[in-house]
Amino acid sequence: MPELPEVETIRRQLAPQLEGRTIAAIEILDARWTRPMPPQLVEQRLLGAQVKRVSRAGKYLIWSLSEDQYLLMHLRMTGTLLFDPVADPPHTRVRLKLDDSGRLAYVDPRRFGTGHLLTGAAERDAYLAARLGVEPLTPGFTAQHLRGLARGRTAPVKAFVLDQRRIAGVGNIYADEALFRARVHPLRPGRLTLGDWECVRQGIEEALREGIDAHGASIDDFRHLDGARGSFQDRFLVHRRGGQPCPRCGTSVRKIVVGGRGTYVCERCQKKPRR
Ligand SMILES: [Zn+2]
Repeated sequence: MPELPEVETIRRQLAPQLEGRTIAAIEILDARWTRPMPPQLVEQRLLGAQVKRVSRAGKYLIWSLSEDQYLLMHLRMTGTLLFDPVADPPHTRVRLKLDDSGRLAYVDPRRFGTGHLLTGAAERDAYLAARLGVEPLTPGFTAQHLRGLARGRTAPVKAFVLDQRRIAGVGNIYADEALFRARVHPLRPGRLTLGDWECVRQGIEEALREGIDAHGASIDDFRHLDGARGSFQDRFLVHRRGGQPCPRCGTSVRKIVVGGRGTYVCERCQKKPRR
């Protein structure tokens, strides 16, 4: 599933293609994408709209359009965007043509991705505020803030890190990589010391920045706009490295399950909590 670095990679590739362009044609082939809004209505409102800016919040791509409209795209499990694909790719859900004849295909085999059209900045902000917590890589992302959010929480710290309404954009890959960097065991209860939260904050920042730097991780369907793969999977320290030596101490990396998610940990570097 694309996480913050993958969505940011797409955003950086998409912005120069879209910004300033007008939508000359659009076909929404899957009614699930716009639900509960009927796809015909979304098509009608997008046709002729100009894309002013492409931004990101958590795992959402935000198209700011003329007439104060906002298209909020979420790729979920298997969504990808392809620019000027050679043929019509299988599982295409949306086809879009720009006024400079650039073409964009939204492809999604499992169909969990969404495209919600909102009107006005207030509606956009309310939509995002209900779904997203603090944005990492911004000044508001501090150890104090995290400690406040987690006060009294006994659920594992990894579950906290994965909760989009607390921290926006971190998923399973970057949570494992961040907690390993922080030397914090994923099963520790969420109420950590301020010092530990500072390590977690730094771990998240480092993992996300490295992920962006490597243009995302392609362990499943994630592809760039031109179909190329990201390379962060080649730099994983623990994620998907069960049985391999820890890059820091050489101990075998273990795979455990936390909150139903496969989780990778070095139990020498990340001290297991006492139960
Ligand atoms: Zn280790």
